[in-house]
Amino acid sequence: MAIDPLTLEVARAAKGFMPDDEGFALHEVGLSAGNVGPLLEIGSYCGKSAVYLGTAARECGTVLFSVDHHHGSEENQSGWEHHDAELVDARTGRMDTLPFFRKTIQDAGLEGAVVGVLGNSATVGAHWSTPLGLLFIDGGHAEDVAMTDYKIWAGFVASGGMLAIHDVFKDAADGGQGPFRVWQRAVEDGFMPVGEKGSLCTLQR
Ligand code: SAH
Ligand code: MG
Repeated sequence: MAIDPLTLEVARAAKGFMPDDEGFALHEVGLSAGNVGPLLEIGSYCGKSAVYLGTAARECGTVLFSVDHHHGSEENQSGWEHHDAELVDARTGRMDTLPFFRKTIQDAGLEGAVVGVLGNSATVGAHWSTPLGLLFIDGGHAEDVAMTDYKIWAGFVASGGMLAIHDVFKDAADGGQGPFRVWQRAVEDGFMPVGEKGSLCTLQR
């Protein structure tokens, strides 16, 4: 089933870097993975991708865990390309996307299906044990950070489950190479590429 128009409006209104067509593709991947196990994304930001995945999780009777420390990636900090001054907490001077994430999930009516996990992805992963239907990697995009997420989390993808990676640019002229290196590593490790939409690449275990 497609996303209903009101929910789609909420996804569109959320700050973020995911065009509609990639969001729809992500939703489809979520639908195909939700029967295998719960969905988990690294990188909540303001909740845009969580709406696409959360609606899929709800439809499958499972949940989306959305992991983020909510202080932004390196590329979101002041002076970097993807900085948004509205996301800075005036009290601390640090980025804080948590209030935006909460608003998005609430507006989408997805509080029953999206579980926000507040923390560093490596720390959460070190204590994780539940097999996943889908792992969506969209946290820090520097190669070392993205690769660490892959190494810690990829083993939790259940047999038949999906691995999705965002911002994969095969040509360095189009963007940073971190997520692409992770995609290459996943292929080497035996994940099978099953889909591509824009910079969203999907593989299956
Ligand atoms: N998936 C979102 C966008 C995520 S942007 C969407 O499409 O709407 C990347 C996010 O990863 C940022 O919010 C940042 O805070 C988070 N992040 C980066 N490194 C992290 C880490 N080590 N642990 C937890 N979150 C991290
Ligand atoms: Mg992204």
